[in-house]
Amino acid sequence: MGNSASRNRLCRNKEIPTLITSSKLISSPVMVSAESSPETSSNGSTTPVHNGFRTPSITILHFNDVYNVEEQATEPKAGAARFKTALRSLADKDPLILFSGDILAPSIMSSFTKGEQMVPVMNQFGIHCAVFGNHDFDFGLERLVDVVERTHFPWLMSNVEDNETGCPLAGGILTHTMNWHGWKIGLVGLVEKEWLETLATINADEVTFTDYVDRGRELASSLKKEGCDYVIALTHMRTPNDIRLAENVEEIDLILGGHDHVYEELKVNGKTILKSGTDFREFSALTLTQQSKGVNVDIKKVVVDSAFEPDAELKEALSKYEEIVGKKMEEDLGSFSVDLDGRFSSIRTSETNLGNFVCDIMLASCNGDVALLNSGTLRSDRIHPKGEFKMRDLMTILPMLDPLLVLEVTGEKLLAALENGVSQYPKLEGRFPQVAGVQFVFDPNGEPGSRVVRDSVKIGDEYLDLTSTYRMVTKAYMKDGRDGYNMLVDCPILQDEEQCPMLSTAVQNHFTAIQSHLGKSRRNSIHRQSLVLLSRRHSLIRQDDEVPPSARGSGHARLGRSVSTDSALSTASSGSVSSACSKRSRWSLSRQESFHELEDLACKLAPKVEGRIVLATDEVLEELSMKRAMHSVSVIEEEDEPITPLSPKNKPNPLT
Ligand SMILES: [Zn+2]
Repeated sequence: MGNSASRNRLCRNKEIPTLITSSKLISSPVMVSAESSPETSSNGSTTPVHNGFRTPSITILHFNDVYNVEEQATEPKAGAARFKTALRSLADKDPLILFSGDILAPSIMSSFTKGEQMVPVMNQFGIHCAVFGNHDFDFGLERLVDVVERTHFPWLMSNVEDNETGCPLAGGILTHTMNWHGWKIGLVGLVEKEWLETLATINADEVTFTDYVDRGRELASSLKKEGCDYVIALTHMRTPNDIRLAENVEEIDLILGGHDHVYEELKVNGKTILKSGTDFREFSALTLTQQSKGVNVDIKKVVVDSAFEPDAELKEALSKYEEIVGKKMEEDLGSFSVDLDGRFSSIRTSETNLGNFVCDIMLASCNGDVALLNSGTLRSDRIHPKGEFKMRDLMTILPMLDPLLVLEVTGEKLLAALENGVSQYPKLEGRFPQVAGVQFVFDPNGEPGSRVVRDSVKIGDEYLDLTSTYRMVTKAYMKDGRDGYNMLVDCPILQDEEQCPMLSTAVQNHFTAIQSHLGKSRRNSIHRQSLVLLSRRHSLIRQDDEVPPSARGSGHARLGRSVSTDSALSTASSGSVSSACSKRSRWSLSRQESFHELEDLACKLAPKVEGRIVLATDEVLEELSMKRAMHSVSVIEEEDEPITPLSPKNKPNPLT
């Protein structure tokens, strides 16, 4: 903790319980301020003239979790400029405009601008007050504070304190009061601990989190004592936490939430909890009306479709950020030494080098045993010729912001997922898998659901064990059971979306790591994504194993796992890999030289098809049964065989 005297000087409002409002607000305690008087609104006709008295009702516009300022291809067309017009369509109500967090990221544009385009968006919307969301911290605290200073309204952060300054985190304030048409409104901004702990840019030890129920009660009752008629909590947390807040804090009258991208209205303990959708597609217009037994809340959902024209002023302001994106798209990421096959006809029916490249990066960036991607993710539908690879190419392949996650899957679920992947073959279905860390044979003539040749599935160098568990890197879309992957729905999450990079970010990080390895970047940090992919490490071990013991030297230098290879072999010989064995997913590399060789090879950017997904032909099946027979005779012998019998021309090759 720092020095409290200097800390308080920096805070934008005083310590609890003294209620001080931010310098940005209207602070007349009794009378209506000029800013909120109907005389200054664009059309006062439907707002009763109150001459300083309390009007019977007021209007609030609420929205949350907005990311893409560009309009969408399908209805609702949305987009920030159209959203502004929709907000303005209710200007005659002189509404209070409140925002529940998440605006700076993630979006493709924001990944280039650090959310700069949102400054004019927020200011032109005329937001009156906001709470921070988790993604507002994506570019770090300093960046957020910089943005906060340039927005024309206060941000609330009522229950998280920065230990260094003793103030609410990120230049936030504890509470805000507004005198709106004679209503004295108190606002608090509450967040949950769950997302706070996963913020990559904030050290959880350097902030103090106070439970939102305790702090909410404390601040709301203090606001009521100060004379507020009505207290609104702006929150950024999951709905069950909003429910807990509603159940436990009498002094809060209304909860306007975010974080969940749903349009949802709940009534808990006589209070309304509202989430107003996402991504500039919709917002809520609430009418608060004073009645004899309390305040009635009437809610209308406004859908931002093409019935609203985009606002010209905001559209103009945003055009320069579109230019920035345009320039960024021309940036060179690296240079491939082979063509990349992204054609739907290829990636939706077979293993491709593009799929292997992307899946290898998934595996490396999230440290998995297996990576599984539905090929529908890869959108370019073309061959990318070898040579320069630009950001535009990457964005053509991966235009969506796909969050990765790591699941714990049993061998059985993994097999079911592979079965689903090949179940529609040869239809060009997006569910067809691209993989890393796994290889298998499938028979297209088999019934859907039993096409994968059971004895052919290998995870790394070991045959799949149906009862073992594996770390599977995949994307949220598949975990949600889309594309038929419903076997993944109830798999435990080992690393959630907040703890994993976006897929396109992981790929960009890979190129950055290559630049760094080649000494082309200014910052040659050791903190970079691994260039050596786990599936490659398997191959490296095998190559080392293939060296005759006599040639290995007395040190028996080898790349091994954290458990001894001998025990791995002995369990494998009994026909199954123990779960202890499958739980070791990290490889300890004792031969640094080879590791560096692999890094050098990764820099050549020459992914290839290498027998991960193989169509069953008579020849392949025959080879497979021979292989299994040998395996049952001698595990050692089996282990010394080349890794890719299914594609005989390929020796195990750490290059790819
Ligand atoms: Zn959020």
